Amino acid sequence: MNETGPIFGAMLREFDRAARILKLDPGIWRILTYPKRQIVVSCPVLMDNGEIEVFRGYRVQYNITLGPAKGGIRYHPDVSLDEVTALAAWMTWKCAVAHVPFGGGKGGIVCDPTRMSARELEALTRRYVAEIVDAIGPEKDVPAPDVNTNDQVMAWVMDTYSMHVGHTETAVVTGKPIEMGGSLGRREATGRGVMIVTREAAKHLGLDIKGAKVAVQGFGNVGSVSAELLAGIGAKIVAVTDWKGGVINPAGLDIPKLLAHAAKNKTVDGFPDADPLENDGLWGLDVDVLIPAALENQITMENAPQIKARILTEGANGPTTPDAHNHLHERGVFVIPDILANSGGVTTSYFEWVQDRHGYFWELDEVNMRLEKKMVEAFEDVLETSIKYKVDLRTAAYIVAINRVGMVTKMRGMYA
Ligand code: NAD
Repeated sequence: MNETGPIFGAMLREFDRAARILKLDPGIWRILTYPKRQIVVSCPVLMDNGEIEVFRGYRVQYNITLGPAKGGIRYHPDVSLDEVTALAAWMTWKCAVAHVPFGGGKGGIVCDPTRMSARELEALTRRYVAEIVDAIGPEKDVPAPDVNTNDQVMAWVMDTYSMHVGHTETAVVTGKPIEMGGSLGRREATGRGVMIVTREAAKHLGLDIKGAKVAVQGFGNVGSVSAELLAGIGAKIVAVTDWKGGVINPAGLDIPKLLAHAAKNKTVDGFPDADPLENDGLWGLDVDVLIPAALENQITMENAPQIKARILTEGANGPTTPDAHNHLHERGVFVIPDILANSGGVTTSYFEWVQDRHGYFWELDEVNMRLEKKMVEAFEDVLETSIKYKVDLRTAAYIVAINRVGMVTKMRGMYA
């Protein structure tokens, strides 16, 4: 019996739909719906109050057919094996769509980092890495930041791994600080990818991106860079919301000023050159492009019928529920699915890994030029597949991914 948690189940439904259209060989189908390896560890930590707490940690390597497993490490109270397995599967498909030589992995620790000191977090990170040290490495499994982990956590992962293997190994993680082997352009990469696929979609639909009206949910890493770069190519960012509130200006928000305001106030709320906007008010706006770049399950059957945008670019992971997605597709909204739209991050992680392994670092222009090429190719592959099979872009992205992983699985044959 396979994993059947609700989150993994949702992944399987998307997978099955594409596999059916592709008439995937039943044996390959079976192989691709099982995680290759699920590791569960217990991590004791001496807390600041003198007590010992034991944290549950996971690392799942869903599929390593195309290369080392790749995927972030998440710190959150709701982390579960079901969630980590589904996320590792999604990373498998995302890496395949991005056409980078990685499989899919994901890690997580059940903890509440907002209630832990920096020392406790470092101790937890180091113990977790020590518990999974034999399973990770530049050729095996390369973690990265995810929810509630950042470049500092990656520095601890890199250092702990390096201490165990006896030499400095920068290529064991991506999303590291630039000073210790991180890549230029990695921070902006996901937003840059969102800008590129949105621009390509507009071109395909005959919509002039210059002057196109854009609304963005979330003004963190992905949302703010997407807004900044789309404004840079002439789009008009008319509305932005975040955890605290939102702002709207039909004449276009001044994004550099909004960035400065958000950096100072930790929210876009209260930005003087705009009117306030409720988060729920974002969905029904008369815009050409809508970019959810905050959380999962934001676009549901409650708000999808209000959406007027022509293009919906999923900067976040899983922002649209399956029902809402079907509804939008039927209404002709051009939905650029997460595994394509936000794959600029993992693509630049691949560049970081390549640079670390070569010990030779690229200029920012080179990183951006290579990202541009990869994103345009991925967009075209998915678009052509959607036209060929007469399916929505999400199903098409799965078809591209399953085809790539399935074909190599078949070529490699079965070791038994
Ligand atoms: P982040 O923490 O930097 O930013 C999240 C933003 O969402 C913040 O502006 C926050 O205020 C806002 N937000 C939170 N709750 C909200 C709510 N209820 N309503 C409206 N806004 C809300 O995170 P990020 O790195 O930008 O990631 C955003 C999404 O993109 C996540 O789904 C993440 O998994 C996905 N993603 C990120 C990357 C990356 O490289 N950072 C790569 C791929 C996918």
